[in-house]
Amino acid sequence: MASMEIKRFPDPVLRRKGEDVKSIGKSEKKVLSDMAETMYLKGGVGLAAIQVGIHKNMVVIDIGDGIMKMVNPVILKREGSEVQEEGCLSVPEKCINIKRSKKVVVDYLNEDGQAVRLSAEGLLARVVQHEIDHLFGKLIVDYLSPLKKICNSLTTRRL
Ligand SMILES: [Zn+2]
Repeated sequence: MASMEIKRFPDPVLRRKGEDVKSIGKSEKKVLSDMAETMYLKGGVGLAAIQVGIHKNMVVIDIGDGIMKMVNPVILKREGSEVQEEGCLSVPEKCINIKRSKKVVVDYLNEDGQAVRLSAEGLLARVVQHEIDHLFGKLIVDYLSPLKKICNSLTTRRL
């Protein structure tokens, strides 16, 4: 396993859209485990492949319940809304209040290529939405409006 370099805003690489993974082989599994290692090293709770310069629809998440590796994740359903502070490993030292769905249902493939349907709420739902934004080239700074302030925080979880 190896740690990867995390691309930082305003690196244009972060604005490209990811592509769906066609088949999950050795190299995809290696990328997923390197991404997990990188996320843990940087103290994040989620990381998208785009953030390490790989334009594939792959994300890793661990909110404290163990590693989840998601390939080609798609949100099927959203419910409710909630505003909370969010940080991002690609936008260091910043956090922004973002309104997101409270619950989501997401379909993805695990690293063995099996289809998984997950119902997530709270922090997990938020991280899933944040990481899927990355796959579309979207960043937390895009949620800024003139009325919203960027706060500086070292304690906000980074996704
Ligand atoms: Zn992020």
